[in-house]
Amino acid sequence: MNPLAKDAKSQGRLIAEPELLSAVLAHPLHPLPLLVSSGATSSRCAGDGLWTLDLRQRFRKFRYRETSSLVTIGTGLTMAEVLEGLSPYQRALPIGLSGLPGSGFLLTGGMGPLSRVHGLAMDHIQRIQGVWGNGEPFNLHRDDITTDARIASCWRGLLGAAPFLGVVTELDLETDPVVPLAVLQQRISVEALPNWIRSSERWPNSASFQWSWGDHLEAYAVEALADGGPSAVLRSVAGNAPERCVDQLSLPGFGRLTSDQHPAPFHCEVLGRLGEHWGDQAEAVVACLREPMMRRPHSACRISAQQLGGATGAVSAASTSFIHRDAVWKPWITAAWAPGDLVGRERALDWMNHVSEVLMALNPGVHLAQLHDHLPSHGQELKDAFGSWLPSLQQLKTELDPDQRLCRL
Ligand SMILES: Cc1cc2nc3c(=O)[nH]c(=O)nc-3n(C[C@H](O)[C@H](O)[C@H](O)COP(=O)(O)OP(=O)(O)OC[C@H]3O[C@@H](n4cnc5c(N)ncnc54)[C@H](O)[C@@H]3O)c2cc1C
Repeated sequence: MNPLAKDAKSQGRLIAEPELLSAVLAHPLHPLPLLVSSGATSSRCAGDGLWTLDLRQRFRKFRYRETSSLVTIGTGLTMAEVLEGLSPYQRALPIGLSGLPGSGFLLTGGMGPLSRVHGLAMDHIQRIQGVWGNGEPFNLHRDDITTDARIASCWRGLLGAAPFLGVVTELDLETDPVVPLAVLQQRISVEALPNWIRSSERWPNSASFQWSWGDHLEAYAVEALADGGPSAVLRSVAGNAPERCVDQLSLPGFGRLTSDQHPAPFHCEVLGRLGEHWGDQAEAVVACLREPMMRRPHSACRISAQQLGGATGAVSAASTSFIHRDAVWKPWITAAWAPGDLVGRERALDWMNHVSEVLMALNPGVHLAQLHDHLPSHGQELKDAFGSWLPSLQQLKTELDPDQRLCRL
């Protein structure tokens, strides 16, 4: 569980049977908002004085249908559990850099090393079932969005902004074939980073570049080997020969080379931004990040990034709440402090906001994979995440969650 959420003085966890969920949401529970926990990896799956609806025990359905290659999952499963369930059929979904996250990853538009070739996991959703914040159940199919404007609007809201509107309990997802992967993970110098960024922007969609900057800078490149043959992209990149992995769960841990020390326990908040190609500006951006990196308030503070593009841009910006379809980079900032160090927390959050401002010119969007309704930056993050779609989303919220039982929008 996320350490900050774990240490929160929560009112308690609600573990409801699926048939009682409507009653739980319709109940005049206080205080609000009701928090929701799926994989429980974000800081906001539990909070001081608030109730958490925990999906992990009662929402664990898994059914794969070979005829359609569709999988039905309960939203209490982690991405690792979904991939393990699909593995006997040699099928998969494009998960993120870890199997730990739960359905929050799917619903908030989470991306990973295979997103450039297979798209966002969210784009694989064919059916979505759950309960709106007002207690009314819903069960929407992708096929229905072309014939019904109201369903289309709800569908768009749920894909990328579900945590504001309802609790999703079950999903049908299209799956992809499992392909072997090549991975290159190595420390690089800060001077070398802009070149890696510029080169990777020319890579075919089968390859993606991720980096993480802490005490050291780690380069992490992954290539999908569609025909099972040798690496075409990464073998031409300077450095060590790429390692071969049978699937996403076998990839080495991202970020493990960023420090020589095993980190002491820490609390953190994470903010992800979204932007287009960095191209010739890569040098300037990296140069601007040097100064905040030299005055990190805690050794676990980091700046990282992952690459999108390709298939993630092939979906219309107006069809989901993930509107930044032209994004090529998601740089994200980890603001860390020692548990209980309130001054350290303020310093880390100030640092996060400063880095966010540095990145903003080239990366104006926000990826709302972590909710920050407890932080002053929430309002601006909503604007940067949803842009001109925000007023319509807020209108949906007034209809579907009029008492603001779930996270405020
Ligand atoms: C180790 C690690 C690696 C990660 N790697 C990546 C990555 O590569 N790419 C990427 O994009 N992100 C990545 N993330 C971020 C992660 O995907 C998001 O923070 C995601 O929202 C976490 O989902 P969760 O279910 O695990 O967390 P939770 O804390 O349980 O939920 C996160 C949010 O989603 C809401 N939510 C969860 N389930 C539901 C539901 N069923 N219905 C309605 N609302 C719900 C909750 O209200 C909560 O606010 C990573 C996170 C971690 C910890």
